[in-house]
Amino acid sequence: MAFLLIRMQSVRKIFSHAFQDEDNRLLMASSPIFIMHVLALGAFFTGFSWVALLALVVTYSVRVFALTAGFHRYFSHRAFKTSRLFQFVLGWVGTSSAQLGPMWWAANHRHHHQHSDKEEDIHSPVVKDAFWAHIGWVLCRAYGEIQQDRIKDLNKYPELRFIDRFHVLPVLSLILVLYICGTVLNAYFPGLGTSGMQFVMWGFFVSTVLVYHVTFCVNSVTHIIGKKRFKTDDESRNSWWVALLTFGEGWHNNHHRWPFSARQGMYWWELDLSYLVLRGLERLGLVWDLKVYPEKIYEEARMQPLEVDPSS
Ligand SMILES: [Zn+2]
Ligand SMILES: [Zn+2]
Repeated sequence: MAFLLIRMQSVRKIFSHAFQDEDNRLLMASSPIFIMHVLALGAFFTGFSWVALLALVVTYSVRVFALTAGFHRYFSHRAFKTSRLFQFVLGWVGTSSAQLGPMWWAANHRHHHQHSDKEEDIHSPVVKDAFWAHIGWVLCRAYGEIQQDRIKDLNKYPELRFIDRFHVLPVLSLILVLYICGTVLNAYFPGLGTSGMQFVMWGFFVSTVLVYHVTFCVNSVTHIIGKKRFKTDDESRNSWWVALLTFGEGWHNNHHRWPFSARQGMYWWELDLSYLVLRGLERLGLVWDLKVYPEKIYEEARMQPLEVDPSS
């Protein structure tokens, strides 16, 4: 008995030491993202099927749209209006990307715009480095707290506070739906060669890791590589390939110049898939009052020394 007590005391001592140690704290904060990457390797064990790849394409596309149009353009910048129900849908689907909730996301993003590439910017590759801007800052628990004063407009909706508080629920619900889909398909169409676990691996874990890195590219790549159309007082840039991967978020220099626009590409050749989908949803009456760049911004673009280059 005495031996057991001594063992328990030493275990408690180890844990209290762990929580005092900054490195261990960081390790604990970053473990969900590490675990996500490790579990994505499970796709090698569950095998491949075309229908599982289709599940990946669907969950990638729907969630990238929910992040770009929802978390970014709607929750962070209020670039269009929608109903309370569709606002909830955008919040729930975006949160299933395992990037915490819309209030945490919007608060940090508003902070980024206020201090872009200045000392206070939480994910600037100019102030720190590319690794920090890409993923380092997310691994750091210092930014886990929601800056409530920045999201007073969102705070009045209890359902959004619920999503933010129980942000694991949208994630678990997506895993469950994928598992049921894969299991049902396996039962009725065994020729497809899929299973519940295979659907979860490709549709959630592999897809989520891809969504992580394309989202993170907006914070890292588009503040380092690409062309600056506007002389903004930060290093934001336009990158066509990040725009392709993120459905329009790569036109980041345009966006920093006029963050209120629901459209980030300025011309037809600056492909902005999220904006095209938003226009479709506008026709269906699900969103309205989409803000776009005013004429003075187009005039300013024409006056800039850098020419508009379709290949950039
Ligand atoms: Zn930026
Ligand atoms: Zn923004």
